[in-house]
Amino acid sequence: MTKVRETVLEIDLKALSHNFNFIKSKLSAHTKTLGVIKAFAYGSDAIEVAKALVLENVDYFAVAYTQEGVALRDAGICTPILVLHPQMADLETIIDRGLEPSLYNFRIFRAFLNVVKAKDQKNYPIHIKFNTGLNRLGFNSLETGDFCNEFKNQSVLDLRSVFSHLAASEDRNENEFTKGQIVKFVEITKHLNNELGISPMRHILNSSGIFNYPEAQFDMVRTGIALYGFGNDPLYTQKLKPVFKLKTVISQIHEIKPGESVGYNRKFKAMKPMRTATLPIGHADGIHRAFGDRKGFVWIDGQKAEIVGNVCMDMIMVDVSTIKCEEGDEVVIFENQHQVNLLAEQIDSISYEILTAISQRIKRILK
Ligand SMILES: *Cc1c(COP(=O)(O)O)cnc(C)c1O
Repeated sequence: MTKVRETVLEIDLKALSHNFNFIKSKLSAHTKTLGVIKAFAYGSDAIEVAKALVLENVDYFAVAYTQEGVALRDAGICTPILVLHPQMADLETIIDRGLEPSLYNFRIFRAFLNVVKAKDQKNYPIHIKFNTGLNRLGFNSLETGDFCNEFKNQSVLDLRSVFSHLAASEDRNENEFTKGQIVKFVEITKHLNNELGISPMRHILNSSGIFNYPEAQFDMVRTGIALYGFGNDPLYTQKLKPVFKLKTVISQIHEIKPGESVGYNRKFKAMKPMRTATLPIGHADGIHRAFGDRKGFVWIDGQKAEIVGNVCMDMIMVDVSTIKCEEGDEVVIFENQHQVNLLAEQIDSISYEILTAISQRIKRILK
């Protein structure tokens, strides 16, 4: 069996490029693409992912928080970066580092305008977010007129885009609701364009939106999870390539006698003779404690090995009673989308959470 020496997350940049181009193939030629690389590019490596997407001529990036954008600028990424959820404390940094804020209410809009004026900026790019039903962030449609009046009262901001976010783009049962969001968005942008006499870019689709509502692609789409291989639907996922392989190694094998226990709190007690393998990956690495007690599993030589007992901070023990393996052998946590989805289902989670949980202490290797 393959021998390995430590836990690593392999990132397949060719698969990433394949996925980017598959997504592009779903879009008209003039639709711009924004790569969502928040949360370390969904738990991987935002800088390496950004560099790979720059080579594919991505038009925009988005991060959630300002510091994520700063890290990209520090790494030499010059592509426009939308900060989806800027905090009051970061407005100066946004300008200093040439980042572009999403402004979602009057409070942050006015605060940002003041900072732009104080810093003597001209034509500073901003993006305005409208709430069309997610009820998370965004101006209300009824505020469109007031927003336009305030916007007309200044001359230092450049409205680059107007956008919204879908609440259930992956859920066919919410088709009517989603279409309602899109209609509302069209009304808002028409109102705004008429009032202001400009036509900033419009965007509302995330990954599932691109697959399920391509008619609503407007001027740009924001793709996150699909870049990393997940379509939120087997139909689309099968067209996407797996980008991540999380693998570890057997540190030690134990022969367990009946009546003996394994791990903290003696959570697991053996009823019959068995073998366990101890692996150097634990809840501090992203293996949620909820995976303990046989909820979670890993793959050794293609066979499933369940986690026995409690997940420790830095280790798990798995049942290898029926698997031929030895110390130093490779252990796969996941290397395809199906394995990630299986793990997510086990703890009532989603692929997004399994991926973003992968801790920064795990070494990243580019493939
Ligand atoms: C995270 C996020 C996205 C990306 O969503 P995916 O489902 O991963 O494609 C797009 N837009 C906004 C506003 C987001 O917060």
